[in-house]
Amino acid sequence: MHALDTGLVPQRTHMQVTTSLETLLGLSGAPAAEMEFSLPISAKAVERLACDCSITRIVLDSDSMVIDVGRAKRKISGPTYKALKVRDQGCVWPGCDRPATWTSGHHLVHWVRGGPTNLPNLALLCYRHHWMVHEGEWQIVRSNDGEILIVPPTMTFGPPPRGPD
Ligand SMILES: [Zn+2]
Ligand SMILES: [Zn+2]
Repeated sequence: MHALDTGLVPQRTHMQVTTSLETLLGLSGAPAAEMEFSLPISAKAVERLACDCSITRIVLDSDSMVIDVGRAKRKISGPTYKALKVRDQGCVWPGCDRPATWTSGHHLVHWVRGGPTNLPNLALLCYRHHWMVHEGEWQIVRSNDGEILIVPPTMTFGPPPRGPD
């Protein structure tokens, strides 16, 4: 039996993702994560969803361990988010004019890899550009003088995909 959460005020999307630490770190060969009521999603998508406050809990299922990483300091706090909106005013992608209300906070160095949740490591990105950074393999970096730089995906030529025997 499922109780319906009809009394909840919708804020940001809350979801629970079951994943392994390997998936979260994007190691190749790691299993896809499973979202509640959804199809398996890629490590890149988990990383994007986990970038802002949209995930309250991530349950790691490797070695039957259940770890709640919701305790990690990755949630952008109210004052920090306010300051971020004042500074960036909207999506920071060059040429993008999406206002702040259409954006979410992006960790330039993802908190999974130890990036801090503070202003120098945060930038507002709209959904499309947030997707491009995580799933599209574009890179966004801040130069020493605070300028946002965009690095397109690098073409890599690995071994050709193996055909069926
Ligand atoms: Zn992000
Ligand atoms: Zn944008």
